[in-house]
Amino acid sequence: MSHHTHTWPRLETRVHRIACHFCDSHHLVDLIEEGQAAHCRQCGQVLYRNRKSSLAKAGAFGITAFCLLLTALLFPFISMDVFGNKSSISVPGAITSLWTSGGTFIAVSMAVFVVILPFTMISCLLYLCIPLLIGRTLPFASPIMCGFQMLQPWVMVEVFFLGAMISLLKLVKLAEIDLGIGFWSIAGLMFCLAGAVGGIDKVELWDRIELAKSRRRPA
Ligand SMILES: [Zn+2]
Repeated sequence: MSHHTHTWPRLETRVHRIACHFCDSHHLVDLIEEGQAAHCRQCGQVLYRNRKSSLAKAGAFGITAFCLLLTALLFPFISMDVFGNKSSISVPGAITSLWTSGGTFIAVSMAVFVVILPFTMISCLLYLCIPLLIGRTLPFASPIMCGFQMLQPWVMVEVFFLGAMISLLKLVKLAEIDLGIGFWSIAGLMFCLAGAVGGIDKVELWDRIELAKSRRRPA
């Protein structure tokens, strides 16, 4: 039974047809083992790939992203020295000072786009991927998968990061800037989020959820 969790695509019971995007010939899909690719019989192009340990990779990137997000919240983003006045600012510090200085809209959008949405997306991914590693699903896997897919376009840590970089470049002229652990955590978070989201095919994730669910049901 265990090897079934590594075979993909499509469900064991379902016949699935696929057309080659290169030569338009039609194929009946077979289950392929992890690390293998299915090729077109006519032209030899890759039809689809069962990426090696995609679940484990998505899970590992997800856990790393989670830790980096926590680190980004706890440690200073930048420290600066303006004519001998030393100060440092963290992501939560920036949000609260924006809020108190009247920049309510920016404070809220920063909290939403940098903290709340990435946190929710990572949690959804881990909630799905970790039990799937042993071929299981936890309750509400399907609605959580829907949520995960809907959140994806809204996770824009890189937009915030670029904005911060541009303001930093301006500040460098005025003050001595030290990039803090929080800064590097956000930089790493950007890459880990991309790795976690890009590491696993959405169709594959859906199929694995369906498969795990169909096993849980008594026959
Ligand atoms: Zn072909």
